[in-house]
Amino acid sequence: MEMHYVLPDHENLDKITYIYNPSGDLTVSSFITPAYCTFCKSQIDGFFIYNSSSSDEVSTIECNHCGKTIYLVDDEQSPVDVYMSSSDQMDGVEMEKSRKFNKVPIIHKDIYFLNEAMLERVQERTNINFFEAQEIELSNLIKRVCGNTKISFEDLSEKDLGLHPLFPNLPPLVNKWLHLLKKIECI
Ligand SMILES: [Zn+2]
Repeated sequence: MEMHYVLPDHENLDKITYIYNPSGDLTVSSFITPAYCTFCKSQIDGFFIYNSSSSDEVSTIECNHCGKTIYLVDDEQSPVDVYMSSSDQMDGVEMEKSRKFNKVPIIHKDIYFLNEAMLERVQERTNINFFEAQEIELSNLIKRVCGNTKISFEDLSEKDLGLHPLFPNLPPLVNKWLHLLKKIECI
């Protein structure tokens, strides 16, 4: 059982990058991820290191609510970043039915409200072009919108808003983004 994925180091909680490449793909790269227990259907406390480059390594997390083991698994066939799964096996026909129940996709751009639909709304309000080739840290992206709307980055709250049904607790920097989205009436 590996529990070293719990991350009390706040510096790394902010390592979130928005990437839009010339072919039109929007991805959000996150050094850490929130985690979800597929057994007791609740968010596991804390955040966990997620490194997409080590795809051959399956990470395990013990749920602090029910004690069961959850796996972080990559699926090379899928554009989705990673899954929270009750099994470390991604293939196997006999698992097909139960996998549908016990596998939750972790798509950071959706969980963090940084997907295409949301950025189109922010773009309408600010005239900032999010859909040109760029790679920008989330903190700088927030500051860019703050500068455009005369909102203070420092004054933005880091408190959870509980907007995502599966992940009510998000990294503090993401919460700043959500509070900003509220202020400019995008959520
Ligand atoms: Zn659980």
